Amino acid sequence: MDLIRRKKSILNFKQLKEIGLRSSLINCDGPFLIQKSKNGKQILKSSDPFERNLFKKSQGIFGFRENVILRVKTTQGTSIESNILKGEFDSFKNMELLEREIRSLDFKVRKNSFDIAYFEIIHTHPTGCYLQRDDEYEVISLGGLSEADYMAANYLSEKYGYHFKLKAICPGEITYCSA
Ligand SMILES: [Zn+2]
Repeated sequence: MDLIRRKKSILNFKQLKEIGLRSSLINCDGPFLIQKSKNGKQILKSSDPFERNLFKKSQGIFGFRENVILRVKTTQGTSIESNILKGEFDSFKNMELLEREIRSLDFKVRKNSFDIAYFEIIHTHPTGCYLQRDDEYEVISLGGLSEADYMAANYLSEKYGYHFKLKAICPGEITYCSA
């Protein structure tokens, strides 16, 4: 195989939507796309400005570094965000940091006499959805929330008794959301 002629092109949301029309891997659902995974449905959407900004901050001169932000949503409709945490959130060391942020956000919500509706773990991924071509083949590779992402969210849900939604911001300005 001629490696030089192989091309990897990162797909954006519009391109993925077109692929969704002729592939069973992803399906259109109103303004979103749905991708089935082992852990259930994942919803794909176009990254919003906040998410695109967090993704940009992951790209440094020394390469890609995962960024994590924790957001709490209250039943009153307000939300509070944590500072940016650097590194993979599901690693043990960072899990401790994340839990500290959970307790701190929980405290802030209570101080305002609000109630927690759910948490969001927003983080960045270095790999996205892409098409790989050589002379004969065209292969689509889809990204998404990982098994480790779901395991970490389940662990936190059990420990704190709140729902933890997941968001992974990927190249191509695509955000994967847990259902
Ligand atoms: Zn992830």
